[in-house]
Amino acid sequence: MIQSKHIKSPQLVLIVDDQEINRDVLGMILEDYYDLIYACDGQEAIQKIEEYQDKLSLIMLDLMMPVMDGFQVLSHVHESESLQRIPIIVLTAEKDAELRALQMGAADFITKPFDMHEVIRARVSRIIELSEGRRLISAAEHDKLTMLYNRNFFFEYANRIHLYHPEWHMDAVVMNIEQFHTVNELNSREFGDNVLRIIGNEIRAFLAETEGIASRIEADRFDIFCKAQKDYQALLDRFQRKVDGVSENVSIRLRMGVMPWQEDVKPILLFDRARAACNMIRGEYKSHLMIYSEDMRVRELLNQRLLNDLRQAVQEKQFVVFYQPKYNIQCNPPRLSSAEALIRWKHPELGMIPPGDFIPLFESNGQISIVDNYVWAEAARQIAAWREKFGMVIPVSVNLSRVDVFDPNLVQNLTALIRENGLDYKNLKLEVTESAYTDNASQLLDEVGRLRENGFEIEMDDFGSGYSSLNMISAMPLDVLKMDMKFIKNIEHNAKDFRLVELVMDIAKYLKVPVVAEGVETENQLRLLKEADCDLVQGYYFSRPLPPEEFEKLIIREKEIIRGTQA
Ligand code: C2E
Ligand code: CA
Ligand code: CA
Repeated sequence: MIQSKHIKSPQLVLIVDDQEINRDVLGMILEDYYDLIYACDGQEAIQKIEEYQDKLSLIMLDLMMPVMDGFQVLSHVHESESLQRIPIIVLTAEKDAELRALQMGAADFITKPFDMHEVIRARVSRIIELSEGRRLISAAEHDKLTMLYNRNFFFEYANRIHLYHPEWHMDAVVMNIEQFHTVNELNSREFGDNVLRIIGNEIRAFLAETEGIASRIEADRFDIFCKAQKDYQALLDRFQRKVDGVSENVSIRLRMGVMPWQEDVKPILLFDRARAACNMIRGEYKSHLMIYSEDMRVRELLNQRLLNDLRQAVQEKQFVVFYQPKYNIQCNPPRLSSAEALIRWKHPELGMIPPGDFIPLFESNGQISIVDNYVWAEAARQIAAWREKFGMVIPVSVNLSRVDVFDPNLVQNLTALIRENGLDYKNLKLEVTESAYTDNASQLLDEVGRLRENGFEIEMDDFGSGYSSLNMISAMPLDVLKMDMKFIKNIEHNAKDFRLVELVMDIAKYLKVPVVAEGVETENQLRLLKEADCDLVQGYYFSRPLPPEEFEKLIIREKEIIRGTQA
C-alpha cells in the first residue's frame, strides 16, 4: 500500500485539534510515517506554523475549536505568501463545514471519528506528494498491465495539479489504437496486451523526461497530462515507432488528440476535448494527430445546441421535407418516376440547416429515430395528398439510418403509416446505405429482410462507397441500387470512372435490379448514363430537392406529358 514507502527523512506534519483524544488517535495512525507536532487551538497553531514554516509538509486542522477556530487559521495561511504552499487537510464531522473549508482552499478533508486508518494515511501521503509535485508510487493505484495510474487516481491527481499548480500549463493528450478490437481478434489477446505494455513503457520513459502523469483509462485508451510539448507529431511518431517494432506483419496505427492547457478548464473537460479531437481522426488516412481547435469548440457548442433544440423543433414543425425527383431516362422525354424525401431544418434562429449538419450528430446520439419517424410520416402523408390532388401516385423514398434498424417497432411503425394513408407498400420506398450493411451485417440483414417480406422495396443507397464483396451483395435483400455520386462526378473526363459505372450496371444486371444514378448535373453525364443503360437519374440536372409546393409544378408538367402522349 501507499505507506510502504518509508521515508528516509520523515516529513513534518502539524496536527491541530482541541480534543486530546483526536490528537492521540491521529498521532497513532501517522507516527510511524511522519514527524508530528501538535497544537490545541488556532492561536497555538499559527505560532507553530510560523515557527516551522520551512519544514512543514502538511497541516491537519480541526475546524471547531475554542480561542481561534480552524477557518481563521485557513484564511491566515492562505493570505500569507510564504505559508500558502503548505497543504491543509481539514478534520471535521459536518458536511457543510467541509465544503466551506474546501472553498477556502483546504486541500482535502477527513471526517471524524477517524476509522479507516489506511485511507487516512493514503490521503495524507497523497496530499503531501501532490503539493510537492512529486509522483507517488503504489500498487493499488496502478493498472497492472502497463503500470500507469488507473482512471480514478489519475483524475484525482490531475485535479490536484490543476488546483495547486496552474502555472504548470499541462496539456491533455489522448492516445489510442485504431481498430484495437480487430488487432486483438486477428492476432491474440497476448499480442494485444504486449502492444499495450510497450506503449505503457514508452509513456513512462517520456514522463521521466517531462513533468506529467498518465493513465490507461480503459482498453486501448491512454490519457497523458503533461507539460505543453512543442511538437506533438514528433511525440506521436515516437510512440508509433515503438509499436511498429512489435511485428513486421501486423500494422498498428496510433492516433492522438490534444487539448492544449487552458485556464479555468478542469482536467476532465480537457480530456473530453482531447478525446473528441482524437475521435475526429477516425477514418482519416492523412493525419493521425488532431489538436483541439477553436473551430471544434464552436462545432461542439453548436452540436449541443442542436441536441437541446431537437424536441421543440419537432413540436413546432421546424423540420421540413424537400422532394427531389427521380426521372426515368430510358423514355423520351424522360419521365417523372418517383422522388426522394430529404429533410431540412428551418431553425428559427440559425436559419436553414442542411441534413449533413445534424443527421450524423443525431445518429451518434441515438436521437435520429425521432427525426426519421417524422420524415416518414410526412412523406406518407404527402404521397396520399398528391394522389388526392393530382390523381396519380408519386412513390417517395425515405432514408433509413443504420440505427433505425435496431428499433423494435420499426416494421410496425412503417406499416402503420401505409395503413393510415391508404398506400401501397411499393409507394413508400426505403433507402439504406451500403455501409450500414457492412457495419452490422447480420441484424441489419434480418431486419431489412423482414421489411421486404412485408412488401416494402429497399433501395441500396450510396452503392460503391462501402466495401461489400460480391458475395455479400448477392445475399443482401434489395430491390434497387443507387450508385454513389462519386462515380458520376468524373465520368465525363475519366475513362476509368466510366468503367466503374459500367461495372455497377453489370452487378445490377446480375442481381436483376434497376439502377438509380445520383448527383447527375450535366447533359453529358446524362448521355453517358443513358448509353450505359442506366434506368433512373436523380440530380441537379433535373432538379434540386424542392419544397412540396414547388415539386407540384413537376407533377403538373408530368401530367401534361401524359396528356400529350395520349392525345
Ligand atoms: P443521400 O441520401 O445520399 O441524399 C442525396 C444527397 O445528394 C442530398 O443531399 C441531395 O440534395 C444531394 N444531391 C442530389 N442531387 C445532387 C447533385 O446533382 N449534385 C450534388 N452535389 N448533390 C446532389 P442532402 O439533402 O444535403 O442530404 C445529405 C444526406 O443527409 C443524405 O444523403 C442522407 O444520407 C441524409 N439525409 C437527408 N434526409 C434524411 C432523413 O430524413 N433521414 C436520414 N436518416 N438521413 C437523411
Ligand atoms: Ca438517400
Ligand atoms: Ca445517396
